[in-house]
This record gives sequence, C-alpha cells and structure tokens, in this order.
Amino acid sequence: MGFLEELRALFPPGRVLTQGAALAPYESDALTAYRQRPLAVVLPERKEEVVQTVRLCHRYGVPFVARGSGTSLSGGSLPVEGGIVLALNRMNRILRLDPQAMVAVVEPGVVNLEVSRQAAPFGLYYAPDPSSQPVSTLGGNVAFNSGGAHCLKYGMTANHVLGLEVVTPEGEVVRLGGEGLEGVGPDLHGFFVGTEGLLGVAVEITLRLLPKPEAYHTLLAAYGSLEGAGEAVSLVIRRGLLPGAMEIMDRLAIEAAEAAVQAGYPKAEALLIVELEGPKEEVAEEALVLEEVIRESGALEVRVAGSEAERQAIWKGRKAAFSAVGRLSPDYLVQDGVVPRSRLAEALREIGRLSQAYGLRVANVFHAGDGNLHPLVLYDGKKPGELERAEALAGEILRLCVRLGGSLTGEHGIGVEKKGYMPEMFAPEDLLAMEGVKKALDPKGLANRGKVLPEVARAGG
Ligand SMILES: Cc1cc2nc3c(=O)[nH]c(=O)nc-3n(C[C@H](O)[C@H](O)[C@H](O)COP(=O)(O)OP(=O)(O)OC[C@H]3O[C@@H](n4cnc5c(N)ncnc54)[C@H](O)[C@@H]3O)c2cc1C
Repeated sequence: MGFLEELRALFPPGRVLTQGAALAPYESDALTAYRQRPLAVVLPERKEEVVQTVRLCHRYGVPFVARGSGTSLSGGSLPVEGGIVLALNRMNRILRLDPQAMVAVVEPGVVNLEVSRQAAPFGLYYAPDPSSQPVSTLGGNVAFNSGGAHCLKYGMTANHVLGLEVVTPEGEVVRLGGEGLEGVGPDLHGFFVGTEGLLGVAVEITLRLLPKPEAYHTLLAAYGSLEGAGEAVSLVIRRGLLPGAMEIMDRLAIEAAEAAVQAGYPKAEALLIVELEGPKEEVAEEALVLEEVIRESGALEVRVAGSEAERQAIWKGRKAAFSAVGRLSPDYLVQDGVVPRSRLAEALREIGRLSQAYGLRVANVFHAGDGNLHPLVLYDGKKPGELERAEALAGEILRLCVRLGGSLTGEHGIGVEKKGYMPEMFAPEDLLAMEGVKKALDPKGLANRGKVLPEVARAGG
C-alpha cells in the first residue's frame, strides 16, 4: 500500500478528501493571494486519528498542516505542496468545564466564542477575543498566540493557556503544563504557544476562565486627526488607567463600518473607543479620571454608552470594520505590526506619508492600547502591478514598526507572508537557534513546512 491507501484505511469513507472540488476550500486561508492545492485533506474527529495520521506522515516523509477555521491572514494554514491538511473543525467538543477550578478543557476545533457561551451560566468567560472569535478555533488561537480588543488588560492567548496535549511531528503524544496557574518545571506549554504549528498539533487545550466583569463603562471619542487619537491613548495610560480595551478607527474605517452596520458613529478623522471594566465602584471612580483625560486630549465629541444596547452599538462598528473595508475596495491586505504605545502617533503619521507616496489608500483600525497596528492596504488586484505595490507598502510598514522598537506581528503570525521580514527583526544567530529547535523536534521538517523561518537562516546568510 502507498501513503494515500494507508491514509484512507485510517478513516471512514468521506473523511479523506482527495478530489479537486473537495480540496478547493482548503487551498488558501484568509490571505487568498496565496494558494496551494494539498495532496489530501483529512477530517479527524478524535485525537487517535490525528496521532495515526501524523505517524503515517512521519513514516512516509509527507508534510502536514494543521488547520482550524483558516482565518489566518498570513498564509499560516496554507497547504504545503505534496502535503496534507489536518482539518480539525470536527474536533469541537468542550471536554470539561469546571466552574470551581475555573478551567475549560477543549478540543482544538472548538470556536473561541463557544467557550464564553458555555461558561456564561457560571458567571465566567474566556478573555482573549480576536475579532474573528465567532469563527476562529482555539487550536488556531494557540498556534498564533492570538489577541483581541481585551488583551490590553488581560494578555494574549499565552496568558490563558494552562496546559496542552500535543502530537509531536514524530507522532508522540506529550502533555505540557497542567491546570494550575503555578506551573512546575520549564514552561513548555508556554513555549508551544505562538509556534504556528511548527512543533506539532495541539489536540487538547486547558484554558483559564475568568469571572465576568461586574460593570463596564464604554466611551467613544471623536478626534480631528489620527495622531490626536493616538496621543490620547498614551495620555490614558500615563494617568494610571488600565482599560479593558482601547481601539482606534480612522476615517476610512469609520466610513466602511457605517456603510456596513450603521453604528451611528460621528463623522471624524478618527474615533477612539475606551472600555473600562471591573468592580462597580472601581469603574465609577476610573470613569471620572477618564472623562478628564479625554477632555484634556482635545476630543471633538464624546459619547458614553448609557445601556448595554448602546455599548453593543459602539462595538458593532468596530467588530465589523475589517470585513466592511471590503466595501471600499475590491481587495485589501491586512497588516499586523506593533509599535511601542508611546510612538503610536509617530507611526500613524509615517503610515499616512507612505500611503501618499505609494498612491494607495490605507485604512487603520487597531488595538491601540497594545500599540498593535492593523493598517489595511487597499488595492485592486485586477490592475497590473497593484498587488505588488500594496505588498511593498505593507512591507515598509513592517520595517517602520521594527525601526520604532516594535515587532513584525502582534497577533496574526508570520506564516508565509512575513517570513522574509524575519531578518529585519532577528539576528542570524537568533534565527539559527529557532531553526535548531525546529530540527530537534521535527528532523524531517514535516510540521507546517516552509512557514515562519526564512530560508536565509538555513543558508547561513
Ligand atoms: C476578519 C478577521 C479578523 C481577525 N481578527 C483577529 C484579531 O483581532 N486578533 C487575532 O489574533 N487574530 C485575528 N484574526 C486572525 C485569525 O482569525 C486568528 O489568528 C485565529 O487565531 C486563527 O484561527 P483559525 O482557527 O482560523 O486558524 P487557522 O487559520 O486554521 O490556522 C492558523 C495557524 O494555526 C495553526 N494551527 C491551527 N490549528 C492548530 C492546532 N490544533 N495545532 C497546531 N497548530 C494549529 C495552522 O497551521 C496555522 O499556522 C482575524 C482574522 C480575520 C479574517
């Protein structure tokens, strides 16, 4: 028997896809500019099926890519030529939810929002909230160390994963971490989070749940310039406040969101959303300080949500902004870089200048509190050379982030899109150390081959 015959023997009919039409949906992730048809897609429903598949791949030397919902924006879940895709959406059971211990043990295909839904009756929730939370999976979140609006206060996925069960690229099953906050020994589960599927497949994830905040205070402030909104973010933090979220949208993003969901936003060059959350009295006190800071920051208009419905209306536009930008342009690239919060205004000014220089519009909608920028570079793929120009502009923005002391990715990962920029941020020795870890755990280079690590490291250049 050959590889495909042995693979088919592992699964019931219909759960190994090899035909063109069935493979098509797996050819790309949300970065659709990159496409690759896999050799096959398997649809495991149980951990043992993942283990058997990975062992088979190891025996035959076939590369494999784990995939959740394919919402990666950096080509992270792009198939590898001649390789297979392990599509994990069917492994979507919450195995255990323990309100006393405040943990949830989940399979990797569980959708992020589902954990909070199931935890809500116990007054608990799962904090990391990527904008893709109604569709993205915990497996993908772990691999990308995903973040979201509320990560300013609570941290990224890495701060909420207590333990993992992982199938190594050689098909061994290992347990990393546990259920407690105080881990013993090396932080190996922490080490796995953010490695973009390069070190194996997470098949079980133990998550920390938090008590739902008692109160929220959500404020929307309009500014006459994007830099003005950026400066307000620094002012808020300098006054000692740590809001649950601080988000900025520029004029283009506001227009797009308005057209899509009619959130009722004021017309402005930029909007800042600040959300305080926590115990009632604390939020009430902080709200007074926030009001003062926002007044001092020169906001043109300020609205405070007076009810849960008004709060949801403020968030509705922000959450819809990414997809809404599709209304402004046939195509767009989402970039994801980070700058130190204190240099936000400077970064935004420079992005505006680059946008003019390249003759391409850039919409900005981002997690300002983290300094996590999400410039959306608008282009028309049908116009010759425009995609290349958009990519060059996006690349300039990444270099800018590194130059200002930030990083190449806040939450969307490196994938294939940004691996060429890794040498901008890491010295050759750093890249070789990463390569060494990969080689030690995956000597045949099968797990998510060709992602994250630039070839230049291997070439020793
Ligand atoms: C509209 C939109 C908004 C977004 N907003 C945010 C945001 O606010 N914050 C944010 O962080 N991201 C955001 N993203 C990016 C993306 O949704 C997240 O990074 C998410 O975590 C990816 O999850 P997924 O299930 O779609 O993973 P996939 O795209 O399927 O995979 C992502 C990576 O994880 C690996 N992987 C998947 N499952 C496993 C597993 N079980 N074990 C090992 N590796 C695995 C894949 O190989 C790939 O490298 C957004 C994307 C879109 C399209």
